Amino acid sequence: MPHFDLFFKTEDLRRRLEPHLGLIPPFFQFTVRTGTPEVRYFDQKDPMWKGFPFPVPEGAVYVFDDDIPARALGGGMHMRASVRVTRADRDDEALVLRIWHEILHAIGQPADDMVKRAGEWQSISDKVVWAAWQSLSRPLDAPFWHRKFYAWLTERAASVAGGR
Ligand SMILES: [Zn+2]
Repeated sequence: MPHFDLFFKTEDLRRRLEPHLGLIPPFFQFTVRTGTPEVRYFDQKDPMWKGFPFPVPEGAVYVFDDDIPARALGGGMHMRASVRVTRADRDDEALVLRIWHEILHAIGQPADDMVKRAGEWQSISDKVVWAAWQSLSRPLDAPFWHRKFYAWLTERAASVAGGR
């Protein structure tokens, strides 16, 4: 089971988001901390990643606020992840889904492939709702679908870890 040291930059972020961590299945284990891990920065010439702090220690996840002038909302790889919380972010559960997305990347799961893999992760009833959703032109990038897809990816990762 992957274990992460989950750093919230401020007490305020921790108070907001820690109560919602139960959305993420217990396959992922956290030690929650307040503060900043050792971070590094990617290529500063790349505008997307300019100013984006990324943890150095393996297993560290960093959740930071807009006092840090970054552009990307999140990144994850090699058992490390960072998530940005913007001033416009009001939905705390959606932010926890953003953490879940990045830690899936951190363990090598294809967290961006929700639409591409729809045929694999959806139940029959999901397919019906998905089609109706599309016919109403509702955006598919929605917490309702993210939760289902991330749950599927997590089970997939857990079954590999369990050798089944
Ligand atoms: Zn992604």
